[in-house]
Amino acid sequence: MSLTEITTRLHAAEAVADRPEGSTTLIAISKVQPPERIEAVLEQGHRVFGENKVQEAQGKWPAFQERFGKCELHLVGPLQSNKTRAAMELFDVIHSVDRPKLAGALARIAQETGACPDLFIQVNTGEEDQKAGVLPAEVDAFVAECRGMDLPILGLMCIPPVDEEPSLHFALLAKMAERNGLRGLSMGMSSDFEKAVSFGATHVRVGSAIFGERVTG
Ligand SMILES: *Cc1c(COP(=O)(O)O)cnc(C)c1O
Repeated sequence: MSLTEITTRLHAAEAVADRPEGSTTLIAISKVQPPERIEAVLEQGHRVFGENKVQEAQGKWPAFQERFGKCELHLVGPLQSNKTRAAMELFDVIHSVDRPKLAGALARIAQETGACPDLFIQVNTGEEDQKAGVLPAEVDAFVAECRGMDLPILGLMCIPPVDEEPSLHFALLAKMAERNGLRGLSMGMSSDFEKAVSFGATHVRVGSAIFGERVTG
Protein backbone atom coordinates (compact mmCIF):
# COMPACT_ATOMS: atom_id res chain seq x y z
CA MET A 1 0.00 0.00 0.00
CA SER A 2 1.01 3.61 -0.19
CA LEU A 3 0.26 7.12 0.93
CA THR A 4 -1.79 7.77 -2.23
CA GLU A 5 -3.92 4.70 -1.72
CA ILE A 6 -4.54 5.40 1.96
CA THR A 7 -5.41 9.03 1.22
CA THR A 8 -7.88 7.89 -1.43
CA ARG A 9 -9.49 5.41 0.96
CA LEU A 10 -9.63 8.05 3.70
CA HIS A 11 -11.42 10.52 1.42
CA ALA A 12 -13.86 7.80 0.34
CA ALA A 13 -14.60 6.99 3.99
CA GLU A 14 -15.20 10.69 4.70
CA ALA A 15 -17.63 10.85 1.77
CA VAL A 16 -19.52 7.76 2.96
CA ALA A 17 -19.76 9.27 6.46
CA ASP A 18 -21.06 12.50 4.93
CA ARG A 19 -18.11 14.41 6.29
CA PRO A 20 -16.10 17.06 4.42
CA GLU A 21 -13.01 15.84 2.58
CA GLY A 22 -9.94 16.55 4.67
CA SER A 23 -11.86 16.66 7.96
CA THR A 24 -9.74 13.77 9.24
CA THR A 25 -6.04 14.31 9.87
CA LEU A 26 -3.94 11.43 8.55
CA ILE A 27 -1.02 10.86 10.93
CA ALA A 28 1.63 8.70 9.26
CA ILE A 29 3.09 6.59 12.07
CA SER A 30 6.76 6.29 11.19
CA LYS A 31 8.11 4.46 14.27
CA VAL A 32 10.84 1.91 13.53
CA GLN A 33 10.56 2.50 9.76
CA PRO A 34 13.79 2.75 7.75
CA PRO A 35 14.67 6.37 6.83
CA GLU A 36 14.26 5.83 3.09
CA ARG A 37 10.59 4.90 3.52
CA ILE A 38 9.99 8.05 5.57
CA GLU A 39 11.85 10.16 3.01
CA ALA A 40 9.65 8.75 0.25
CA VAL A 41 6.52 9.89 2.08
CA LEU A 42 8.06 13.29 2.81
CA GLU A 43 8.93 13.63 -0.87
CA GLN A 44 5.27 13.05 -1.73
CA GLY A 45 4.51 16.13 0.34
CA HIS A 46 3.08 14.59 3.50
CA ARG A 47 3.96 16.60 6.62
CA VAL A 48 2.04 14.98 9.50
CA PHE A 49 3.84 12.16 11.30
CA GLY A 50 3.57 10.20 14.53
CA GLU A 51 6.08 8.42 16.73
CA ASN A 52 5.64 6.33 19.86
CA LYS A 53 8.98 7.01 21.57
CA VAL A 54 10.43 10.38 22.48
CA GLN A 55 14.05 9.31 22.13
CA GLU A 56 13.58 7.66 18.74
CA ALA A 57 11.81 10.77 17.46
CA GLN A 58 14.55 13.06 18.79
CA GLY A 59 17.05 10.99 16.84
CA LYS A 60 15.47 11.49 13.44
CA TRP A 61 13.02 14.37 13.20
CA PRO A 62 15.34 17.37 13.66
CA ALA A 63 17.34 16.22 10.61
CA PHE A 64 14.24 15.42 8.50
CA GLN A 65 12.78 18.84 9.31
CA GLU A 66 16.02 20.54 8.39
CA ARG A 67 15.79 18.94 4.94
CA PHE A 68 12.04 18.98 4.32
CA GLY A 69 10.81 21.86 6.47
CA LYS A 70 8.59 21.90 9.53
CA CYS A 71 6.40 18.86 10.07
CA GLU A 72 3.49 18.41 12.44
CA LEU A 73 4.72 15.77 14.91
CA HIS A 74 2.44 13.65 17.10
CA LEU A 75 3.50 11.54 20.08
CA VAL A 76 1.18 8.53 20.19
CA GLY A 77 3.06 6.32 22.66
CA PRO A 78 3.31 6.39 26.46
CA LEU A 79 5.13 9.36 27.99
CA GLN A 80 7.30 9.02 31.09
CA SER A 81 7.12 12.07 33.32
CA ASN A 82 10.88 12.63 33.15
CA LYS A 83 10.65 13.01 29.35
CA THR A 84 7.82 15.54 29.48
CA ARG A 85 9.96 18.57 28.71
CA ALA A 86 11.71 16.89 25.77
CA ALA A 87 8.36 15.74 24.39
CA MET A 88 6.88 19.23 24.68
CA GLU A 89 9.84 20.69 22.81
CA LEU A 90 9.60 18.29 19.87
CA PHE A 91 5.93 17.40 19.46
CA ASP A 92 3.00 19.53 18.33
CA VAL A 93 0.43 17.10 19.71
CA ILE A 94 0.60 14.52 22.52
CA HIS A 95 -2.00 11.73 22.40
CA SER A 96 -1.08 9.86 25.59
CA VAL A 97 -2.03 11.99 28.60
CA ASP A 98 -3.13 9.27 30.99
CA ARG A 99 -2.49 10.22 34.62
CA PRO A 100 -2.58 13.18 37.01
CA LYS A 101 1.18 13.18 37.56
CA LEU A 102 1.83 13.63 33.84
CA ALA A 103 -0.88 16.27 33.56
CA GLY A 104 0.77 18.12 36.43
CA ALA A 105 4.19 17.99 34.77
CA LEU A 106 2.73 19.26 31.48
CA ALA A 107 0.95 22.10 33.25
CA ARG A 108 4.06 23.18 35.18
CA ILE A 109 6.22 23.32 32.06
CA ALA A 110 3.47 25.01 30.06
CA GLN A 111 3.25 27.77 32.68
CA GLU A 112 6.98 28.19 32.70
CA THR A 113 7.43 28.31 28.92
CA GLY A 114 4.07 29.77 27.92
CA ALA A 115 3.57 27.01 25.33
CA CYS A 116 1.91 23.61 25.30
CA PRO A 117 1.25 21.04 22.59
CA ASP A 118 -2.38 20.13 21.89
CA LEU A 119 -3.31 17.18 24.07
CA PHE A 120 -5.43 14.05 23.86
CA ILE A 121 -6.37 12.02 26.91
CA GLN A 122 -5.78 8.32 26.30
CA VAL A 123 -8.68 6.12 27.40
CA ASN A 124 -8.26 2.40 28.11
CA THR A 125 -11.65 1.56 26.60
CA GLY A 126 -11.03 -2.19 26.83
CA GLU A 127 -9.97 -1.90 30.50
CA GLU A 128 -6.89 -4.00 29.71
CA ASP A 129 -4.33 -4.44 32.50
CA GLN A 130 -1.30 -4.04 30.24
CA LYS A 131 -2.60 -0.98 28.40
CA ALA A 132 -2.12 2.67 29.33
CA GLY A 133 -5.01 5.10 29.57
CA VAL A 134 -7.58 6.23 32.07
CA LEU A 135 -10.51 3.90 32.67
CA PRO A 136 -13.85 4.89 31.11
CA ALA A 137 -15.35 5.52 34.56
CA GLU A 138 -12.58 8.03 35.35
CA VAL A 139 -12.64 10.02 32.11
CA ASP A 140 -15.03 12.81 33.11
CA ALA A 141 -13.16 13.56 36.34
CA PHE A 142 -9.78 13.49 34.61
CA VAL A 143 -10.94 15.82 31.83
CA ALA A 144 -12.16 18.24 34.49
CA GLU A 145 -8.87 17.94 36.39
CA CYS A 146 -6.85 18.72 33.25
CA ARG A 147 -9.08 21.67 32.40
CA GLY A 148 -8.57 22.92 35.94
CA MET A 149 -4.86 23.01 35.17
CA ASP A 150 -5.53 25.05 32.00
CA LEU A 151 -4.24 22.27 29.75
CA PRO A 152 -5.33 22.46 26.07
CA ILE A 153 -7.27 19.19 25.86
CA LEU A 154 -8.31 18.64 22.25
CA GLY A 155 -9.97 15.26 22.68
CA LEU A 156 -9.74 11.57 23.52
CA MET A 157 -7.62 8.75 22.12
CA CYS A 158 -7.98 4.97 22.28
CA ILE A 159 -6.30 1.78 21.10
CA PRO A 160 -8.97 -0.96 21.06
CA PRO A 161 -8.07 -4.50 22.21
CA VAL A 162 -6.66 -6.48 19.27
CA ASP A 163 -9.21 -9.27 19.53
CA GLU A 164 -12.35 -7.16 19.79
CA GLU A 165 -14.60 -5.38 17.32
CA PRO A 166 -13.14 -1.85 17.25
CA SER A 167 -16.48 -0.20 16.44
CA LEU A 168 -17.72 -0.66 20.00
CA HIS A 169 -14.65 1.14 21.30
CA PHE A 170 -14.87 3.92 18.72
CA ALA A 171 -18.53 4.49 19.61
CA LEU A 172 -17.73 4.54 23.33
CA LEU A 173 -14.89 7.02 22.85
CA ALA A 174 -17.09 9.28 20.71
CA LYS A 175 -19.79 9.26 23.38
CA MET A 176 -17.35 10.15 26.14
CA ALA A 177 -15.86 12.97 24.07
CA GLU A 178 -19.26 14.41 23.25
CA ARG A 179 -20.52 14.47 26.81
CA ASN A 180 -17.33 16.29 27.82
CA GLY A 181 -17.58 18.82 25.02
CA LEU A 182 -14.42 17.58 23.33
CA ARG A 183 -14.10 17.82 19.56
CA GLY A 184 -11.06 15.62 18.92
CA LEU A 185 -11.12 11.85 18.45
CA SER A 186 -7.81 10.07 17.84
CA MET A 187 -8.78 6.57 16.78
CA GLY A 188 -8.28 4.14 13.91
CA MET A 189 -5.13 2.44 12.64
CA SER A 190 -4.12 0.55 9.48
CA SER A 191 -6.74 -2.17 9.86
CA ASP A 192 -9.71 -0.06 10.93
CA PHE A 193 -9.26 3.62 10.06
CA GLU A 194 -12.28 3.70 7.74
CA LYS A 195 -14.49 2.40 10.53
CA ALA A 196 -13.04 5.02 12.86
CA VAL A 197 -13.95 7.75 10.35
CA SER A 198 -17.54 6.53 10.31
CA PHE A 199 -17.60 7.04 14.10
CA GLY A 200 -16.22 10.57 13.82
CA ALA A 201 -12.44 10.21 14.08
CA THR A 202 -10.70 13.56 13.64
CA HIS A 203 -7.23 11.94 13.67
CA VAL A 204 -6.35 8.49 12.33
CA ARG A 205 -2.97 6.93 13.11
CA VAL A 206 -1.84 4.79 10.19
CA GLY A 207 1.56 3.14 10.08
CA SER A 208 2.12 -0.13 8.24
CA ALA A 209 -0.56 0.51 5.59
CA ILE A 210 1.43 3.56 4.44
CA PHE A 211 5.04 2.48 4.99
CA GLY A 212 4.83 -1.30 4.80
CA GLU A 213 5.31 -3.77 7.63
CA ARG A 214 7.58 -2.54 10.39
CA VAL A 215 11.04 -4.06 10.26
CA THR A 216 12.33 -4.70 13.77
CA GLY A 217 15.35 -6.24 15.43
C1 LIG B 1 2.11 1.83 15.89
C2 LIG B 1 0.90 2.59 16.26
C3 LIG B 1 -0.09 2.89 15.32
C4 LIG B 1 -0.03 2.45 13.87
O1 LIG B 1 -0.25 1.08 13.77
P1 LIG B 1 -0.46 0.40 12.31
O2 LIG B 1 -1.22 -0.83 12.64
O3 LIG B 1 0.88 0.15 11.76
O4 LIG B 1 -1.25 1.32 11.50
C5 LIG B 1 -1.18 3.64 15.75
N1 LIG B 1 -1.31 4.06 17.01
C6 LIG B 1 -0.37 3.79 17.94
C7 LIG B 1 -0.57 4.30 19.33
C8 LIG B 1 0.74 3.05 17.62
O5 LIG B 1 1.66 2.78 18.55
